[in-house]
Formats: sequence, structure tokens, C-alpha cells
Amino acid sequence: MPMVRVWNRNSVVHKETFKGDEIVIQPGKFIMMDFNEANDFRGQFFTPKFNKGGAQTIDSMKYIEIDKNDYKAALDELNSRGEDRAKKTYVCMKCNKEFSSKRALLTHVKNTHSDELADDETREELDAELEGA
Ligand SMILES: [Zn+2]
Repeated sequence: MPMVRVWNRNSVVHKETFKGDEIVIQPGKFIMMDFNEANDFRGQFFTPKFNKGGAQTIDSMKYIEIDKNDYKAALDELNSRGEDRAKKTYVCMKCNKEFSSKRALLTHVKNTHSDELADDETREELDAELEGA
């Protein structure tokens, strides 16, 4: 998982137990966290405390923000990993070449292996599939 900056936007130090560890972030500073961990940490419930007047104490306020640029970069990275995986889905049975789409594979088979295809019927099936792809 990509790493992201996790900011404490509060004016006091943020201390919170997360998955058994004490997380400490100085006011206005950040720590690096794994993308998924950062999302879990930001969403974890932080018990509010109240002073005698009934107002929430500032140290119990959670002003945690995942850096917007890092968040976007992490999403882009995760998405492109998914695309890399999908690219290997279509493999030519004749020569093991990999293609990013069914259409690209069928075009390749038609252009490269047409002569090796068993008969005209198979060729026609290929043409029909290519039109639908
Ligand atoms: Zn091939």
C-alpha cells in the first residue's frame, strides 16, 4: 500500500490508541501512514471529553486530515495497479502474447494466426466475435 501524510490540524498534540499502538502527532505536523491504515485511523471514533461548562475539550477534538495530494496519488497508484493486472487477462493460446482487451487479442489472432486456424468456419466465428467485441 502507498504511504500518505496524516496531518494533525489541531492546535494541540493528538494522542490516540490505534490497533494497539499509541499514535502521537504534534500540532500542525504530520506522520506517514499506510493508505488503508490512515483511512481506518481517521475514521476511528475518538471519545469526546467535556469541561465543567459542558464544552468539548480541545485535546479531545480530532482534526485529522489525510494529505489531499497524497490521497489522490495513492488512489491513482492503486487504480493503475488494477489496470496492470487487468492487462494480463487476455492471452493468446498460440504464442502466449498478452493483450489488454478481448478485441486486441482477436485482432492479433486474426492477423497473425489466421492461416493456422482449422477451417473457414472458425475464421467466420472469429470475425463474428471481433464485431461483437
Ligand atoms: Zn498469438
